[in-house]
Amino acid sequence: MALSRGAVLFFKLLACLLWLFELSHGKKQFPLKNLPPLRKASSYPTGCPATYDYIVIGGGTAGCPLAATLSLKYKVLLLERGGSPYGNRNVSYMENFHIGLLNMAPDSAAQAFISTDGVINARARVLGGGTCINAGFYSRASSSFIQQVGWDEELVNKSFPWVEEKIVQWPKIAPWQAALRDGLLQAGVAPFNGYTYDHVSGTKVGGTIFDETGYRHTAADLLAAGDPNNLRVLLHASVHRIVFDSRQGCLKPRAIGVQFTDENGGHHQAFLNNKKDSEIIVSAGAIGTPQLLLLSGIGPKNHLKSHNIPVVLHNKYVGKGMADNPMNSIFIPTRSPPRQSLIETVGITEEGVFIEASSGFGQSSESVHCHHGIMSAEIGQLSTIPPKQRTLEAAQKYTQNKLNLPKEVFHGGFILEKIDGPLSTGHLVLTDTDVRNNPAVTFNYFSHPQDLNRCVYGIKTIERILKTNRFSELSADGTGFSMERVLNMSVQANVNLIPKHTNDTESLEQFCKDTVITIWHYHGGCHVGKVVDQHYRVLGVSGLRVVDGSIFSRSPGTNPQATVMMMGRYMGVKILRERLGRAAGV
Ligand code: FAD
Repeated sequence: MALSRGAVLFFKLLACLLWLFELSHGKKQFPLKNLPPLRKASSYPTGCPATYDYIVIGGGTAGCPLAATLSLKYKVLLLERGGSPYGNRNVSYMENFHIGLLNMAPDSAAQAFISTDGVINARARVLGGGTCINAGFYSRASSSFIQQVGWDEELVNKSFPWVEEKIVQWPKIAPWQAALRDGLLQAGVAPFNGYTYDHVSGTKVGGTIFDETGYRHTAADLLAAGDPNNLRVLLHASVHRIVFDSRQGCLKPRAIGVQFTDENGGHHQAFLNNKKDSEIIVSAGAIGTPQLLLLSGIGPKNHLKSHNIPVVLHNKYVGKGMADNPMNSIFIPTRSPPRQSLIETVGITEEGVFIEASSGFGQSSESVHCHHGIMSAEIGQLSTIPPKQRTLEAAQKYTQNKLNLPKEVFHGGFILEKIDGPLSTGHLVLTDTDVRNNPAVTFNYFSHPQDLNRCVYGIKTIERILKTNRFSELSADGTGFSMERVLNMSVQANVNLIPKHTNDTESLEQFCKDTVITIWHYHGGCHVGKVVDQHYRVLGVSGLRVVDGSIFSRSPGTNPQATVMMMGRYMGVKILRERLGRAAGV
């Protein structure tokens, strides 16, 4: 049926208006119509005859771009233990950032854990991984980091934009973030480098995966860049073992398949095809990947034997070199409550300390009606529970019972400082053989004196920022903040389970140690040269690689997600080129 001239004109006008709307609202939305079906693991037929060129374990920050890229040429099975991020309001809206982290239901997108250091932490359990529960800040690793890890710079420079054009935006800078920008510059963290994804000394505004409405775009969206006919995604698929062919005569044990459970506890297996280059790739994150290698028999033999796990390969380094960048945060009570913001501005100092900020507390009308502090830390509230009783259960009970807290205790913002690196490291060990349970993780925060020195430098930088005119005018009487008072408030907040000391506000070293929290940039456990080779193939076995934050010996950039997503795409292209040569055409 032909359209009338009037109707054609109307549709042209509509298209024009939509185009103008897109222009005024920043970037064009990346179309998700190519997303593969997201099926529950229980739909996977028992004894399924299908085999794959690649099985990717963990649909997270690295796993999604990796699986999407590999599917352009090969059959890929992506197994994710969590559910879908789509339709989950705790994931999709920035205002629910805090309550999303506090949801301790067994199927929530964030799985809480407490390191043996006494720091409350969280790991992702959802398709899209950390990008579904994080603060959204997007900033690339420095070029010296790229050189140190030995990546091909040309491919890196193609892989970052591949991510950015799909899910990254410029923030409409919030008042608290603008105040930090000005405060940093007045305090000498200069020059101002404007809006940039690049890692450059001075002050800058970085990218974000939240759009201007506060809607979160995630690594799961990147699956739409794959070939839906080649990509099978299973949700609630918890892989508990990698299966090896260790027959006599084989040079090395070869990874050939995986065993996983579905959302009803049903057991399944999936296998690679017989092609020589087919692989299992573990992208289960810095906690999940070493845990799964250990559960599959790769690790220190005495540790494996103590859990009755048959040893496939003795490697004393699995789970070693775990690190988490210590963060210390100063709560700043303000005259009027600042609008909610997560991270948008960063000060990159020459001393290896990064300064960032967040403010306000939000939650949508559908969510639990109570106010929560940042990063699970309740300002001045968890302190009502004696340190030894501050367990996850206590925190959960507390959040349920505090509907009537005065709003004022949450009126203010944070300035936080994070250490580059860090140099202090720890380890991860199994507590049992149930993959759903957290392993025991120790980060040994500030065990390296240089990390402690840098924390002290960071707190002194925050003090300089608080003394600037820009911040003084935010204080209750407009005359500025007493450092002793704000330090004391942060100590009183009891943000971790570490015992406090009477000299916390006099000794900045003691303050750093006693109020350390996480910015969730933990990494390591499968270091290059120790557990994996330069191409991230697991040493001593074949058909098995690791691609995620567990291979890093330091966290990339000020915040890692940009580089982890880039690495997923980068490694996908690398693997296709290894297998197909330049004919890969990606
Ligand atoms: P993940 O993204 O965690 O992916 C691992 C995936 O594997 C998960 O989806 C998990 O469910 C799945 N998995 C694990 N075990 C199994 C198994 N046995 N079977 C099947 N699936 C499994 N970075 C920034 O750059 N900016 C920020 O603002 C920022 N804020 C953060 C805030 C929070 C609360 C958190 C937690 C992190 C934040 N980060 C931020 C850090 C960043 O998000 C992470 O470093 C990054 O997402 C890690 O990526 P990954 O691929 O290594 O692991």
